This record gives sequence, structure tokens and C-alpha cells, in this order.
Amino acid sequence: MGRMSVHYDLHSHSLASDGTLGPAELVAAAHASGVDVLALTDHDTTAGLAEATQCARQLGLQLVAGVEISVSWQSQTLHVLGLGIDTACAELEAGLSGLREFRDWRAGEIGRRLARAGIPGCYEGARKLASGNVVGRTHFAHHLVAEGHARSTRDVFKRFLVNNKPGYVTGNWASLEDALNWITRAGGLAVLAHPARYRMSASKLRRFLEEFREGGGVGMEVISGSHTRDNVIAMAALCRNQNMLASCGSDYHGPENPWIRLGQLPALPTGCPPVWESDSWPGA
Ligand code: AMP
Ligand code: MN
Ligand code: MN
Ligand code: MN
Repeated sequence: MGRMSVHYDLHSHSLASDGTLGPAELVAAAHASGVDVLALTDHDTTAGLAEATQCARQLGLQLVAGVEISVSWQSQTLHVLGLGIDTACAELEAGLSGLREFRDWRAGEIGRRLARAGIPGCYEGARKLASGNVVGRTHFAHHLVAEGHARSTRDVFKRFLVNNKPGYVTGNWASLEDALNWITRAGGLAVLAHPARYRMSASKLRRFLEEFREGGGVGMEVISGSHTRDNVIAMAALCRNQNMLASCGSDYHGPENPWIRLGQLPALPTGCPPVWESDSWPGA
């Protein structure tokens, strides 16, 4: 009998960060969509992993413990995934908790700036939507849409939450070196998230990947929910040239985003070695 193909989705979010499904709900939705191996990769927190792991065990799905770390590199914000991390690693948890402190301060600052721009109450609104979890810009976006200040979250980002807009606060995230060290110490594989989404020239991205690899990074997302078909072709070429391992993830945040679905991902292009074939892959 032929080997059945295994469906991987190695990038997703729950209520623990800016997703809209609880960790168990997310795992159930992934299972229903035919995902066999799911990574939960919340922004700067591992708080959803215990619940997700327990639910995955019940459903017979393999849950990869992950995190999406916010990194500041050459005045840009980049996202680095840690896949297969040990959540008991004190160094990782200390690093992430520092990032969450910055998030808390930033949330207050975004609120103050929006208030100054004539829209009070946003901090309270965003906090409420985050219900005790880390507050991100997505919570502000959902609040502003609900209050009728914009048509869509995309619209909110464009008008309020990006550089040169009234609610923008410069990121002061982890250094690349720190993020890679935390992931490596926790036994995880470091993978650059949605590489085609950054405003970087091809040569800058190549320079970044060289530094990333020197610091212990091993992979990049070739297939991502936020990559176009042209992006995939370009990232596959880069992946081959830079000898990176390839990953695929939807970057699912919940059913409100109908154009991004769990597990509905094309296969990795030929010549791009999958990250799950690494000797360090969890369970390998
Ligand atoms: P944060 O890490 O809190 O600064 O927020 C980053 C998150 O905001 C990303 O992970 C996305 O979920 C979301 N996001 C960023 N840009 C946009 C955009 N243009 N439209 C909608 N959501 C966005
Ligand atoms: Mn997000
Ligand atoms: Mn991201
Ligand atoms: Mn993400």
C-alpha cells in the first residue's frame, strides 16, 4: 500500500495571542480540516500549548509546540518561529516574558496615542478583547472596527496602526541573536516566518538569512497563507540557494479571515527539503 500523505500546518494562532479560537477549538478545527501535524505558534507566548497538546492527544493529531517571536532587526520587525520547543526552558520563558512586558507597555502607549488623535477608550477595548492574554495590534483593530471607526481590520492597520499613523509605536522586540538562542536552548528549530512579507530587497533578505543561519536559524516558510504564488516561487529559489529547510504554515488566526484556512496548503516545491525531515524535528 502507498504511503498516505501527511498534512502539515506549522503556523497558527489561538486566543492566547491574537487568534479568535481557543487552543482546543483550534486543534479541533485543524483536525476537522484534515491536518495531521499542527504547530501552535502564538506571538511571544506559549500559554496556549498545554490545552492544545491535551486536545491533540485526544484527537490523535500531532501538536508541535511552537511560538512566533517578534524580532527587531535593522529597524524592522521580523517574525521568527520556534518549532518543537520545550516550554519548560527557563531562558525561553524569561525572554518571552520580557517581550510581553513590552507588549503591555506598548498597548497603553497605542491607547494614549489614539486618544490624542481623538479616539479614546481603545486601550480598554483592546484589553477586553484580549481577555487576560497578551494585547496585540489585532485587538485594537477588532475594537476599532466594532466601534465603527473602520470597515475592516486591514483598513484599521492602514489608517492607524502602521508606521507614520497615529497609533503606531516603534517595536522594541528581541534581538535576532537572543531569539535564536532562546529557541535553540529550548531544543526548537528556528524558522523565518512569511519571508516574502517584509519590505526587504532580495539582497537584504539574503543578508538576513546569512546572519540568521550563523545564529542557528535553520529554515524559512516557503508556503505561507500570506504568500502569493509568485512569492512561493521566489522563496523556493531562495530556500534552495541558501540551503535552508522549508516550512509551510497557514498563519491561521480564526474563521473571521475566510481567505486563510487551516491546512489547505500546496505541497512544498521540489528541491526544498522539509523542516520535518530534520534530525532535530520533534519525534524524529
Ligand atoms: P503585533 O505583533 O501586535 O504588532 O501585531 C502583528 C499582527 O497583526 C500580525 O501577526 C497580524 O496578525 C496582524 N496584522 C499585521 N498587519 C496587518 C494588516 N495589514 N491587516 C490585518 N492584520 C494585520
Ligand atoms: Mn497575528
Ligand atoms: Mn507573523
Ligand atoms: Mn503568525
